[in-house]
Amino acid sequence: MSTWPNSEIQKATPERTAEIRESLTEIRGRVSRAVEALGSVSNIPKLVAVSKYKPSADILVCYELGQRDFGENYVQELVDKAKELPIEIQWHFIGTLQSNKAKLLASIPNLHTVQTISSEKTVNALHKALPSDRIAPLNVLVQINTSGEDAKSGIQPLASSSSSSLGQLSDLQRLAKHIVMSCPKLRLQGLMTIGALDLSLSANETEKNADFERLTETRDILERWLQAELVPEEADKNQVRRWGDESTGKLLLSMGMSSDFEAALKAGSDIVRVGTGIFGSRKTRDKLKEPGAPVS
Ligand SMILES: *Cc1c(COP(=O)(O)O)cnc(C)c1O
Repeated sequence: MSTWPNSEIQKATPERTAEIRESLTEIRGRVSRAVEALGSVSNIPKLVAVSKYKPSADILVCYELGQRDFGENYVQELVDKAKELPIEIQWHFIGTLQSNKAKLLASIPNLHTVQTISSEKTVNALHKALPSDRIAPLNVLVQINTSGEDAKSGIQPLASSSSSSLGQLSDLQRLAKHIVMSCPKLRLQGLMTIGALDLSLSANETEKNADFERLTETRDILERWLQAELVPEEADKNQVRRWGDESTGKLLLSMGMSSDFEAALKAGSDIVRVGTGIFGSRKTRDKLKEPGAPVS
């Protein structure tokens, strides 16, 4: 880890600095207003600034405004940025995780959460790769494919109406149980989804986003099941919470991006992931395949 402040990071220009400050302030304001509109809420939702493809200088502008949670999609890009940026940053990995990249990802000391867990294979690779002297368990969120689109990864949501055949665990239950029972270096913190962008919502704000509702319902079902199935044997024994938020024990929901985070907060989101709204539009990956461009 380099010493801080790191003089090698080029500072953002005054214009860029002003631009990012303004956007971050605006997004924070919109988050606060969405939360206020909900009435009393016990938890303030977490804003993760999604900084993929954006230079470390941009991240520093947000950091200086107190932003600590940042999201990245590509392992190598995250490793490079984590090396040169302050250790106080809490990194969220939000890209597709291949098990052969788990070791590299797990080597980041201030990796805070991996939001995109969708198979036992990647869970095991990640768990195995984590240093045994890691102080806090690594938070993981299981990614749910709420919109059922082939292009999106994640596992099937649960629904109270579709009773599974007796004694048969769903993929999500099986994976959750595996994380809680067999991966002591991980904490099953909650669920994450992308969902289909519901364009009808802007026209009619009172309508609900079906994918966000599905994630909420899936969380409620899973939480009840975990409490009934696993508490007596596992969680109470050593007083360590094996799932949910560190302080409340509730399973958290990560949903909502630049275009739909207000709808997500209305549906009960605990973590919103905003990129474009803070840093502006991104170049496509093809345009970035130049020397020095992040590839993974
Ligand atoms: C890129 C990305 C975001 C941020 O998207 P914006 O629309 O730029 O806010 C959020 N979540 C995931 C999983 C992403 O890949």
